[in-house]
Amino acid sequence: MRYVIFGDIHGNLEALDAVLEKITAEKADKYICIGDLVGYGADPAECIDKVRKLNPVLVAGNHDYAAAGLLNIDFFNAYAYKAIEWTKQHLSDEDKQFLQKITLMQKVNNLTIVHSTPRSPEMFEYIDNNYDVQLAFSYFDTGLCFIGHSHIPISFTLTRGVLSFSTEPYVPVSGSSKVIVNVGSVGQPRDENKDASYAVYDVEEGIVWIKRVEYDVQKAADKINKAGLPEILAERIKYGR
Ligand code: ZN
Repeated sequence: MRYVIFGDIHGNLEALDAVLEKITAEKADKYICIGDLVGYGADPAECIDKVRKLNPVLVAGNHDYAAAGLLNIDFFNAYAYKAIEWTKQHLSDEDKQFLQKITLMQKVNNLTIVHSTPRSPEMFEYIDNNYDVQLAFSYFDTGLCFIGHSHIPISFTLTRGVLSFSTEPYVPVSGSSKVIVNVGSVGQPRDENKDASYAVYDVEEGIVWIKRVEYDVQKAADKINKAGLPEILAERIKYGR
């Protein structure tokens, strides 16, 4: 059994197309999408359309709910706020209804899937310290949990009460540990690597691989500028920040 896991596309069609080309060659049995199909990038509707065609197991990100009118965006920073306002104007009612219906958390076989953290997924909090990571482990009962949200590929492993983390591109999965894998971001990586990120989980091998794909960043950035979206959104994807 092979899963391909990807998310945080953020309306970046160039990045999504590059990832789709790769993942069709991965011979996945099942696709999993971690959410944030829209927000920041210039092609939200096209990204929704392409993800829907893959028919993945899908969970909602904060930008999906924000664009669908389900989330108060007063706490978004200024450029994220502007991007959501722009995105709302560029989605059909049908697209918004689709986003509204996405659930926050899913369980498939031995996998938990959630955008932010299994602990109160509706709050869209970040796991950014040991305490939050420890807590997160007690809120899912599967061996493996896939997340996104921070746009930084990283894994956390809990083995007999001992917590470790890794930014290596391979993550061993064994029955004696629980593992949380952040699969990084397709459309707006923030780990100083501008290449799109996705993951492959091969159940028989017992390994999750984090993979990176080059794409036409300049084209995506030009589209952001042409659309009148905040300039910083075009700049940051050039550096993966
Ligand atoms: Zn995101």
